[in-house]
This record gives sequence, structure tokens and C-alpha cells, in this order.
Amino acid sequence: MPRTALIMSDEFKAYNLGEQHPLKPERVLLTWELIKGLKLHEHPNCVVMEPRLATDEELGLLHTKEYIDFVKRADAALDRGPLPDDMEIEGMRYNLGPGDNPMFPKMHRGSAIVVGATIMAMEAVADGVVENAFQAGGGLHHAMANGASGFCIYNDPAIAIKYILKKHAKENLRIMYIDVDAHHGDGVQAAFYDDVDNVLTVSFHESGKFLFPGTGFMEERGTGAHEGLSINVPLLPYTYDDLYLDIFEDIVPKAAIAFQPDIIISQNGVDTHGTDPLAQLGLTTKGQRDVFKQIHKIAVKACHGKLVAVGGGGYNVSVVPRAWTMLFADLLGALDTLPEKIPPEILSKLNEGRKADLIPDAFLDAGPAEDIKWRINDFKFLDEFELYGLQLRYKFNEEILPLIEKKARK
Ligand SMILES: [Zn+2]
Repeated sequence: MPRTALIMSDEFKAYNLGEQHPLKPERVLLTWELIKGLKLHEHPNCVVMEPRLATDEELGLLHTKEYIDFVKRADAALDRGPLPDDMEIEGMRYNLGPGDNPMFPKMHRGSAIVVGATIMAMEAVADGVVENAFQAGGGLHHAMANGASGFCIYNDPAIAIKYILKKHAKENLRIMYIDVDAHHGDGVQAAFYDDVDNVLTVSFHESGKFLFPGTGFMEERGTGAHEGLSINVPLLPYTYDDLYLDIFEDIVPKAAIAFQPDIIISQNGVDTHGTDPLAQLGLTTKGQRDVFKQIHKIAVKACHGKLVAVGGGGYNVSVVPRAWTMLFADLLGALDTLPEKIPPEILSKLNEGRKADLIPDAFLDAGPAEDIKWRINDFKFLDEFELYGLQLRYKFNEEILPLIEKKARK
């Protein structure tokens, strides 16, 4: 049995919100280029899968019919030319239009393929075709039932979770969602927040006090049967590798052991990097790699390694391919075989024709970004950060973990 599925498709180019938009398809395409350059896709543990479009019925597991219909109509209209004014106005009902979520040609098809790919990854893992899967184009965690949000049209992780719960309804599966994007995974949280007792969502993110979408505080714990099953860990700007990992290692493994999931799905946004233009956390690619390794380890311990890893944010293009290639290599069991530096012939191809955010040769950064460095060398800052981290851990251990333990399988 191959161990790892790699979902890849040229169709992902269609998820293109425009020249000036920060969510560039090249983030994902360059990741695949690097994976292929290193021949990881030909590794004996790897199987490459070509995704299909999600059907309307599948999209309807989360999204309203009106919203899906509108996205399809806008997609068709944009094939014919610029959108008519009445559709521009109608789009505002669904948070589509100028700003974060512009309407773009092929917006339905480009979004439905992302969802189809995450469903395929989830199905391959659930059915035991593979142990784990990597879907770099997924992770559109902000989309809501009746509209777009934060660059996300359809919410692929939430739909894939709903899909697999329905398909395996008799087995009463438990799914754990771990979101390490710099932004709160609000759309996925919302999809299961009220009364759903078989999905645990965990989001580590820069605090909503400072960053979009402004939610994700520890007090958001879920309601009814879901109480305790939404875990939020709001981090301070400039949170650095060691502090992040200390908090993560104290919270996530305990949550997994208490909840006993059958499958883990992780959203692996790398906008946590110290140089990311849209967020202010302070990780390096080494810290990001260690977080990915932790998640994989938790899956091995809690659910026989069953892990679906999707992409997410990350807007410094020099970071994304390096970080996600390490994630993929770890899933494959080939992390130790990665060279320290990307071979020059592969690197020059990746950087060909690109002017900004050139990819450096080393997978691991030499150190933290400049504005992080001086802070972690300042004892006063360090004390405050560590105290804050201890408060988060205390709150989790005292108030939230007991709620999850109450929901342990009988
Ligand atoms: Zn993000």
C-alpha cells in the first residue's frame, strides 16, 4: 500500500483572484515544481492522484443553494465578458466583489476542483487506500455557508469533513481538525460549532485582537453537545518558534488523546512566517517544519497515522514551497533524505522569470526575521510572551480539556 497520496492538477491555476491579489496560484504550483524537481512524487511511498470537481450536492453539504447557484451564474457570465451591473450588486449579498473576494473567471470551476481534491484526499485516507494525503491547494477555511470570506469561495475542509461523516454515518466517525494558519479557522469552526459532537476543531492563530477575521478567542468553545470541542489558541504578534511549539505541544496532543479521532485533517497555512506580508507571527521555516512533524506524530499516536494535510495561507512566495515540501516529505517518511539546500538546477527553474520573493536555496532559514530577532533577545519581551503562553496553557488544561474528556468514547 502506498503511504502518501499527492493530489495534483493543472486545473488549480483557475483559482486565480487576479494579478494583484496576494493568494497567487504560483504558491501551490511552485510547491509541486519543487516536489517534482526533487522527484519526491516518484518515491515508492507516493501515489499521485488527479482530482475531480465537487458536485453541487457535495458543495451543498455546507453551502446554501442560492450561493452555489450565484457562483455558477457569475462563472458562466464571466466567460462571456465583464459582469453586468445587476450581478455585481447581487454578488455583494454573498460578500463577493471588490476587495478580499473578487469575482473571477472560472470561479466556480476553480473552487469546485479544490473541494473535489480535498474530498478525494479524505476518502483515500478514510478508505485505507493510503495512510495520509497532501492537498496543497486546499485549506480555504474562511468561507461561510452563505458567502465568501478571506479569499475563500468554498470551504473545502469543512465540506470534506461533512462528506466523510455522511458517507461513513454507520461507523460514527470522529474527525479532528487542526488549523495552524496565522488566521483563525472561523469558517470551519462555524460549520460544526452548534451541537456537533463528533468533530473537534483546533485553531492556532494570531489573536483576533490584531488580525482578520477578528475571532478565535478561547471563550469560543462550542455550544450544546459541541461544548469544549472548539479549541482556540490566540497568539500574540511576534510569537516565535520555541514559544509556539511549547504551547502547541502542551495542548494539541492532549486534546487528540482525549477525543480519540479516527482521522485528523490539518490546515497548514504558512502565513505564520516572520516575513509574511499579511500577518505578524514570527515563525521560521524550521518552526513550521516542527509543527508539521508534531501534527504527523499526533496522527500516528491517535489514529494510526490517518492524516489529511491541506494547504492554506502563506503570502511570501519564497517561504511556501520550502515549507510545504518539508511537510510532504515528512508525510512520505522521506524528510531525512531532503538535501539541506535545493540543488541549483531546480532552484533556477523555480525562480525563472520571477522578480520578487525569490526562493533561497536553504530549506531552513538561518534565523528569525529581523523584527523578531531583537524581541526575543529582550528579556522583558520574553517574560511577557512566556507568561502569556502559560496563561493559554493553564486555561486549556483547567477549563477545556475536562470538557473534552467528558466526551471520551464509552
Ligand atoms: Zn491565513
